[in-house]
Formats: sequence, C-alpha cells, structure tokens
Amino acid sequence: MPRTDRQTRPLAATRFPPAEIADVDPLELYEQIEVLRTRENATILAHYYQGGEIQELADHTGDSLQLAQVASRVTTGTIVFCGVHFMAETAKMLNPEKRVLVPDLLAGCSLADSCPAPRLAELQAKFRNAGRRFQTVSYINSSAAVKALSDWVVTSGNAVKIIQRLPEDCEILFVPDRHLGGYLEEVTGRKMILWNGACQVHETFSVSDLLGMKRHLPDAITVAHPECPANIREHSDYVGGTQGMLKYVLGFNESKDFLVATEANMLWQLQQSSPQHRYHPVPGVACACNRCPYMARNTLTKLRNCLQYGMPEIAWKASFDRAREVLQRSLLD
Ligand code: SF4
Repeated sequence: MPRTDRQTRPLAATRFPPAEIADVDPLELYEQIEVLRTRENATILAHYYQGGEIQELADHTGDSLQLAQVASRVTTGTIVFCGVHFMAETAKMLNPEKRVLVPDLLAGCSLADSCPAPRLAELQAKFRNAGRRFQTVSYINSSAAVKALSDWVVTSGNAVKIIQRLPEDCEILFVPDRHLGGYLEEVTGRKMILWNGACQVHETFSVSDLLGMKRHLPDAITVAHPECPANIREHSDYVGGTQGMLKYVLGFNESKDFLVATEANMLWQLQQSSPQHRYHPVPGVACACNRCPYMARNTLTKLRNCLQYGMPEIAWKASFDRAREVLQRSLLD
C-alpha cells in the first residue's frame, strides 16, 4: 500500500519529481492517485487529447475553452492539469490563488512555439509605425506572453463570435494558426492577416489516405478540426472544435461510420459519448496514428508523482497579469 502521509516527500527540495518508473501496475497507480487526490484536495482536469486512461480518472474532461471555464469554478485548492503547458498557464491565470500542477512541464505545443512573443511584438510595432489600425486576435494555443500582447484570445469554440463583433474599419492580425485563421476567414467573411504557424499533428493529415478511406467506406461521415489544412476541411462533412464534434456525432441516432481528422485520443471520448457509432482515425502522412507527442508526455506515473511531490507547479509570471485581463474578457463573458 502507498504511504499517504506528508513525510513521503524525499525529493520535495528538487525541482522535478522522479522520472517515469517502469513496471508499475496501472490499477495500483489508480489507487495511489485516488488517495493522493483526496490528500491534496485536488481537482484533475484532462484535455480530450489525453490518453483514455487519464481521461477516465479525471474530474473533468473538455476542450481548451471548457477546461478554462471549469478551472475558474473549481473549489479545491489544487488543480492538476493534464494537457499541455499553455493550457495549465491559462488555468493558473484564471486562478492566481490556486496551486496548478502539471504531470510534465515539457508538454509543450508546436503551434504555440511557432509564434514567439518578441517576433509578434516586432510585427505589431511595424504596423503601428505604418499607421495601421488593427486588433490582435490570438488562438488560445499561444504562450502567456503572446496572450499579453493580444486584444482577444479565442478558442475554436468562440472564435467566430468574437471575430464577428470586431469593428469593420479595423484590420485583424490572427496568430498563430494559419489553418484555423483560413477557416475563420471562410466562415466569417472577414479577411485577416494570418501568422504563419501550424499544429504539427493537424497539418500532416493525408488527403490521399482520407480519400482512400472514403472510397472504402462511401457512407462514412468525415469530421475535421479547423486546425486541419483546407484540403482536409474541403472533404469534410463537419468542421469544428472537439466539443462541437461531440455534439455533432451525438445528433445521429443510427449507427454510423465516422472518419475523424483530429488527434487520435479524441476517439476515446467520442466512443464514451456516442458508443453506437464506429470511429476511424484519418492517418497522417508521416505517422499512422496522429497522436500529439506533447500530450503523450503525460502518463499515469507522472500524474501520480506530481500529486505526491507537489511539483512541477506553474509559477506566476509578470506577463500573466495582462494576459489574465485579456482572457477574462474573451472567455468568461
Ligand atoms: Fe499543440 Fe497540436 Fe499538440 Fe494541440 S495537438 S497541443 S495544437 S501540437
């Protein structure tokens, strides 16, 4: 049985908890996590792109917007965020007084990394010097420093609503995802200046494999995330964020085949929510499964360790103050 008293913290003075310990029985880990969750008065949040074994034991699962909103309502003193770094930062910004722990501090995001704040600040200064009137809209998949430079922060769930209410006489600089930006241009009819960033998972879906799957399953329905390139979106029956996908699929009572163009762990959540259907992941060009390598850094062992040792923890940064203001007005209205 695991020891659950606070004396079991031999590494508390070090920055990182012990690395992955191999050969641990998953059931034993589940039991340990249950005990530690209670001991630490913690709420576990998990993104839909986490492995099913983590989503299964989370208190709440969701997309970025849902988890940001849930994070603002939790009553426990500690939040354990199973997702990637920018998501945990967002939870901390919305809950400055709470302790926010993550299983792995190195769970980053290629999309967030594609827009470094100093380069964005440079472009904004160039626009201002040229007398251009513009507002900066950032996708939530961005660093705190980028959010702090923005007028609005959007998710795939609320982006259309926010873009539609921006004044017509003002240009929109959209960062960092050029594919989501292109999709939003199509839906809203607003031309935007698009940052040249992309998600390494959604960018690599293979259109030829998708067409091959459609030939094999001609009655299948294709659902795609708006982070996918236009050549995938144009062959899709539904384009929307993960929460929208769940609702769309739920609307079909009869059993159907769905071809799913988003991170492959989403299939677990779809299966839980609408088990009457069959789900087929659209493969990528380089990888047959399309799993996000950053999300995959989080494991049950690391989740157990972060609860046990109280680290890694998201520390407050200077950029969080301004980013928090932007987030609150964008997400919580
Ligand atoms: Fe970032 Fe793409 Fe992974 Fe999402 S799936 S965390 S956007 S790299």
